[in-house]
Amino acid sequence: MSNSTAVPTPSPPGAGSLGDIRSQTLEDLQGQFALWKEPAYRVAQLLEWLYTHRATGWDAMTNLPKALRQRLQRAYSFSAVEMARHQGAPDDTQKFLWRLSDGAFIETVLIPANPALYGEASDRHTLCLSTQVGCAYGCRFCASGLEGWKRNLHPNEIVEQVLAVERWHDALAASPPGSRPAAPGGRLVNNLVIMGMGEPLANYDHLLRALRILNAPWGGGIGARRITISTSGLVPQIRRLAEEPLQFRLAISLHGATDETRGRLMPVNTKYPLAQLAAAARYYQEKKGGLLTLEYILIAGVNDGLDQIKPLAALARRLGAKVNLIPYNPVDGLPWARPEEAAQDRFLAALEREKVTATLRREKGRDIDAACGQLRLKTERTLPGAAS
Ligand code: SF4
Repeated sequence: MSNSTAVPTPSPPGAGSLGDIRSQTLEDLQGQFALWKEPAYRVAQLLEWLYTHRATGWDAMTNLPKALRQRLQRAYSFSAVEMARHQGAPDDTQKFLWRLSDGAFIETVLIPANPALYGEASDRHTLCLSTQVGCAYGCRFCASGLEGWKRNLHPNEIVEQVLAVERWHDALAASPPGSRPAAPGGRLVNNLVIMGMGEPLANYDHLLRALRILNAPWGGGIGARRITISTSGLVPQIRRLAEEPLQFRLAISLHGATDETRGRLMPVNTKYPLAQLAAAARYYQEKKGGLLTLEYILIAGVNDGLDQIKPLAALARRLGAKVNLIPYNPVDGLPWARPEEAAQDRFLAALEREKVTATLRREKGRDIDAACGQLRLKTERTLPGAAS
């Protein structure tokens, strides 16, 4: 575990009336630079500093005139996350705990060489992003929801998780030989899964703005089909997402194939029962085609019974979705347990007999508090000065 990172030059008090610089789209910046009567090529220079060089302060932007840098500094804030903790599992999954500018903590997980969980077989580095501090949805098995919702992340705080992990990797690559190879082409992250802390679709506008920035060729350059948004099942937002021009993959946290079983684990099922969720998912599939996954955490004695197979298979077939089975990662203070491997295999085999495409994901990073929200929870309970 390490406890350090470079902290960027803070913006002066009063700066930032136009928001954070990494919440801005190309169009926003072009509009502002036109108002300032700055030449258009200056926008491209600025974006190169932000997303290619991953600069963390204005002073680094040496090819921008000083007067422009001062103007930018007055107009925009430029906040960055600070690494509070970092853990790397022996299998190379890396978990980061970031402290935000208001002292709140969020988690990001880097999963290298991910074998085709969501994207293509050539997946190299997948980053799991958080979208909220805490979560209001209170799924019974989840550490992130244990202490409730604190706030939504701003677009720049979502974008910054990618840049901060890449800066961390750059620093490793620059250290003595043998530590880690440099990232090819300078980009480390080429897949995103939005399934860290928070319900992503409850922070819809900030998430979509961040993803447009991370997807854009001038920004993160990550293809939309390499971005998977996970939801506990917010029906109106799934329908809204279906209308977006970008072709994001969607993962629905199902965890139960009947209202009774799902309702026991996920309070959201009361508001949006399975029939409504299935109709919205079907709509997404019709609009996007082939981009839907059903996530199913296997919990011993709760949802791993073979009585779930028929309804789960029927739903997956109706939606044309694949099923990801994930053995539960125990959370301190919660009563749930991971099924034996034989029970996991039995569940998978039964699904396959029903002609459903399914994978059993024996998750990496089990020994680094892999269940979402655990590292934050432990830190908030032990670190002095942690967010309340
Ligand atoms: S599983 Fe997701 S939606 Fe449910 S409480 Fe945890 S973070 Fe929130």
